[in-house]
Amino acid sequence: MADFMRRLFISGNWKMNKGRQEACDLIDGIIKGMGDCPHVDIVVCPPFTFLDEASRKTRDMKLSVGAQNVFYRESGAYTGEISPLMLKSTGCKHVIAGHSERRQYFKETDAEINKKISLSLEHGLFPIFCIGETLEERNKGKTFEVLNGQIIYGLEGIDNLNVQKIVIAYEPVWAIGTGVSATSEQAEEAHRFIRNTVEKFSSKEVSESIRIIYGGSVNTGSARVLLKQENIDGALIGGASLKAEPFCEIIRIAESISS
Ligand code: PEP
Repeated sequence: MADFMRRLFISGNWKMNKGRQEACDLIDGIIKGMGDCPHVDIVVCPPFTFLDEASRKTRDMKLSVGAQNVFYRESGAYTGEISPLMLKSTGCKHVIAGHSERRQYFKETDAEINKKISLSLEHGLFPIFCIGETLEERNKGKTFEVLNGQIIYGLEGIDNLNVQKIVIAYEPVWAIGTGVSATSEQAEEAHRFIRNTVEKFSSKEVSESIRIIYGGSVNTGSARVLLKQENIDGALIGGASLKAEPFCEIIRIAESISS
């Protein structure tokens, strides 16, 4: 079971899905179905266009709202971008940084992700920092090298107090949206490595308190065994967060493990 200080963190990444009515229905369904879960932190990350409404609907609830991306400037001539200040003004508390789809399709670099994390922290947003290797990198035995680089560059210049506020999401690229989750052994091995790397980079105290969550085809069948691993402190869930029922069931599984 995860360390008691590290509350399980269950987050849904809706990606570019859900029109307004569907999004409203999904939020309502989660609110109705999630039950009492005092030991679990729950976050949903809808598209930008629904952040305002999602924050309004979940105000004073155990459910927080996160954005899926952010830009690393406060304001200015950056057509199409959204700043941390703008996210804050919607009521949003968390932000995903460095998701593999952004690294892959939008060529986001570690340096840009680092700036996104820094500016988000400066403005009181809690980053969900995604890292993970591709299948090719895993097959070449480069998983730890890749994770090490993503951590070192992604967290560069961020002090220990702020590193503690970050949730690291280990998301092997080959497991995202494929229906093939990492095994609990593969995930635990990577999480242990990430925690050890954070310790070298910051301190034992930080590495013991930082939450490292797993993402990659988590569903109601795989959640329990993954969440029971010593170094897995939650999940970032794509496909299974698009319907209230499976998402709420994963929340209940997390609560049953924690309580
Ligand atoms: C994700 O998008 O972060 C993700 C883990 O997706 P899925 O659960 O669908 O693999």
